[in-house]
Amino acid sequence: MNSPNLSKRDFLKAAAMLGATAATPTLLSAQENDAARPAAGSSDGSELIDPKFASVNAHGFMSDAIHLGEESGFSVTPIYQAKNVKGAYQRPPLNPTVDAFEVKMKSLEGGECAVSAPCGMSIITQIFLTFLSAGDRIVVHRCVYDNVMNLLRDHLPRFGVEVRFVDMNDVANVRAALQEKRTKLVHFEPYVNPTCEVLNAPAIIGVAKEAGALCSVDNTWLSPYLFQPLRHGADLVLHSATKYLGGHGSAMGGVVSGSKDLVTSIEKTIGVMGGIIRPFDAFLLTQGLKTLRLRMKEHTASALKVARFLESHPKVARVRYGGLPSWDGHTTGSSYLRGFGGMMGVQWRDAKTHNTFGNRLKMCKPWVSLGDVVTLVSKREPEPARGIPERFTRISIGLEDAADIIADFRQALT
Ligand code: PLP
Repeated sequence: MNSPNLSKRDFLKAAAMLGATAATPTLLSAQENDAARPAAGSSDGSELIDPKFASVNAHGFMSDAIHLGEESGFSVTPIYQAKNVKGAYQRPPLNPTVDAFEVKMKSLEGGECAVSAPCGMSIITQIFLTFLSAGDRIVVHRCVYDNVMNLLRDHLPRFGVEVRFVDMNDVANVRAALQEKRTKLVHFEPYVNPTCEVLNAPAIIGVAKEAGALCSVDNTWLSPYLFQPLRHGADLVLHSATKYLGGHGSAMGGVVSGSKDLVTSIEKTIGVMGGIIRPFDAFLLTQGLKTLRLRMKEHTASALKVARFLESHPKVARVRYGGLPSWDGHTTGSSYLRGFGGMMGVQWRDAKTHNTFGNRLKMCKPWVSLGDVVTLVSKREPEPARGIPERFTRISIGLEDAADIIADFRQALT
């Protein structure tokens, strides 16, 4: 029998019931927090102290990623497979392994709460099902991840939801769409999959809030290390945790963070729909979070090197990487992002290179997916309505040595 009265928000109480004492420090306000930090430019090697990125974390990003949500006395929170806790059974379950992941995520994003799901598509579907009803309207950038596109085009209209695609590269388009008609939800990816457009996320969030719409941001390509949308006023920030959060290609998951009210509503949907993360995946994702900052810095540094190599290659027409000053969106992104991570796109000069590049790679893989330790390249067909150009390949730079990635690309292009 379900026990709907047991609140998952009371994780600490549940942990206490289990005899554990998970340590979740009270979050300091950003001001208090920053006051306790060294001044910008100090020599502790942490660019987190740049006031532009005033942290929402109780401690530094790494300290929170490592310590928050963990059961005391264990080097890692164990994998709890039990479905009942003190007789209670509910969806989402009371599960310390899952909670370790969610506590870390809500803290890294600066939210009050977080809830997870078995994959990114699951969390996005549950968000849409929670907040959109027949007659409601959602405004979305003309390009989002393929299956979100499918959900918006093929499924939400079946339930009477109006989907309005706009080109959010111009924030005026968002404002105009919101003036046309009352809108329930604005949804976008700040660094767009797969076009690599960099949207002016703070401005879009601002316009959505002015219009009284909820705003959900898919932060999968950036991670909370590079961008924390809640700090800019977004209502919800979500991830395919399958990508950078896990980071090792070994787990799938989705997670959303935000206010207690909104996340509790999503939890209720999950309770009915049943999209529940498995403890083993949550365990792996938790381990991934502990090295997120290190990995994002390395992805970013290597991506810039590879982007510069590709930009200078005669077979390349254009490189789409936020870190390159030559790419549209570099200036906008630089004003609010800590970096651009590992995702880029290449427009080839000729169709032959487009067709052969992936299969000629020896170390990197011509596989779909992203945010992995392995460099992954994915050939795309053009879709002008979404802004996906001809002869385009999406690349996710992994954690191999940048020199080896470049050498592999060079030999594949000869
Ligand atoms: N959002 C973005 C930006 C993605 O790239 C993906 C998957 O590639 C998803 C959501 C869906 O995530 P998942 O594959 O975990 O369902």
